[in-house]
Amino acid sequence: MSQDSQNIVVGVLALQGDFAEHIKMLELCGVRAIAVRYAEELDGIDGLIIPGGESTAVAKLTDEGSAPIFSAIKEKIGAMPVYGTCMGSIFLAKEIEGSSQGRLAVMDIKVKRNAFGPQRRSFESDLVIDSLGAEAFPAVFIRAPVIVECGPAVEVLSAIDEGIVMARQGNLLVTAFHPEITDDLRVHQYFLEMVKEYRRSRVDQARLQPLKR
Ligand code: GLN
Repeated sequence: MSQDSQNIVVGVLALQGDFAEHIKMLELCGVRAIAVRYAEELDGIDGLIIPGGESTAVAKLTDEGSAPIFSAIKEKIGAMPVYGTCMGSIFLAKEIEGSSQGRLAVMDIKVKRNAFGPQRRSFESDLVIDSLGAEAFPAVFIRAPVIVECGPAVEVLSAIDEGIVMARQGNLLVTAFHPEITDDLRVHQYFLEMVKEYRRSRVDQARLQPLKR
């Protein structure tokens, strides 16, 4: 484990969807990963992954207003890195085409759900993504959305004919595909670089605080 990875803890939102696969990937990357279900659990983490799943199911939890975890996540967004996979990207999007379902609405993107048609549910496509290196990434799409519009602060990291499938806005990262069900660690490693950067800036900030006497 590199010096840099030591003590890093990444949370994976574990209300619904394939959080266990993300936890496994993070552990393979050499960091600690925890399943996050309650607002208090956000305090001990350096980054958060919102996994794939069914966005309408998670939207219901926000509608009922019963889960304080959503406002707690929203408070941390902007500082703490957050990575949304597939459903996670829908949940972070400011706009969803033709829907007003509950979501965090923090990233300046408009997504189209089930963009490949409800029937063409699952397929794999090798994508060359410059930020991940020259070797193609085995991107698995499962009833996936695409990003159809994005604001000027959004950096497009990968696009296919149907739309944008990987993008970043500051400390927010989204992919329409599922790296957690491949054995390629590069998207998680990319996210962990964002997390390490955030941790370094927090440590620097703590050092700059005047000593209390
Ligand atoms: N189609 C799902 C939705 O709209 C997302 C699918 C996924 O996360 N694999 O919520």
